[in-house]
Amino acid sequence: MFDLKGKVAIVTGGNGGIGLGMARGLAGAGARVVVAARNQTKSDAAVRELEKLGGQPFSIAVDVSDEAAVNALIKSTVDRCGRLDILVNNAGTNVRKQPQDYTLAEWHQVLDTNLTSAFLCSRAAYAPMKAAGGGKIINIGSMMSIFGVSFSPAYGPSKGGLVQLTKSLATAWAKDNIQVNAVLPGWIDTDLTRGARRQVPELHDNVLRRTPAGRWGTLEDMSGIAVFLASAASDFVTGTAIPVDGGYSVLG
Ligand code: NDP
Repeated sequence: MFDLKGKVAIVTGGNGGIGLGMARGLAGAGARVVVAARNQTKSDAAVRELEKLGGQPFSIAVDVSDEAAVNALIKSTVDRCGRLDILVNNAGTNVRKQPQDYTLAEWHQVLDTNLTSAFLCSRAAYAPMKAAGGGKIINIGSMMSIFGVSFSPAYGPSKGGLVQLTKSLATAWAKDNIQVNAVLPGWIDTDLTRGARRQVPELHDNVLRRTPAGRWGTLEDMSGIAVFLASAASDFVTGTAIPVDGGYSVLG
């Protein structure tokens, strides 16, 4: 039920953090993983690590906010692997500032990287997934898909939008046997949140206090949900947004 042998998976931002955690899960379950990100040195290191799990992973350099580059990513993957079964829209960024200080360029940077990229990748993935008889799309939201936050006026809208994009794609493509779901990670220890902790020193302890599990999430915490949502185990699950947060979102 959880076997991904013979499946091809693109993970955007798969060269580190949550994307790498998910890529490890998918490769471990047998999938051939394509690491899609900008920093080639980081991608090479991720591929070397994933190779130990099997499945002949490789990387493609891409800026996911660039429409032509995204179309080329999907085409190169299908040319090389003959199919595409799984897409993880994970690449993301944040600019932390008060709303009144945000520039339009910063707004577009966050929206384009986090939300428009998922639309572009999913749109390009549709035809090869349909041709393969179905597919799995996993969008990475956030606790900010649910909650407001004062210092990230574009991040929250981008992650809230991802949940609505998930529902739109899920309803449109259910007839094609393509399941589309979102994962809402809680606070996970990655480069992104290390940056946030440098900027907001009290963040580390606040997260510990606020998370019922009493710890930050790890990359390993992201592997299982990726396998579930990418495998036949979730064939009747679509349009959902599943928190993986140690209970953060349910604490009153
Ligand atoms: P990281 O900074 O470790 O990873 C971000 C990834 O996105 C990198 O692999 C980066 O690769 C890639 N990326 C960024 N911009 C682009 C772009 N324009 N084109 C292609 N790839 C890009 O952060 P996380 O692992 O923490 O974040 C991953 C996702 O999880 C993000 O969407 C984030 O919003 C989300 N998230 C994280 C949480 C956390 O607690 N860590 C909580 C909730 C959600 P490169 O620089 O090489 O392009």
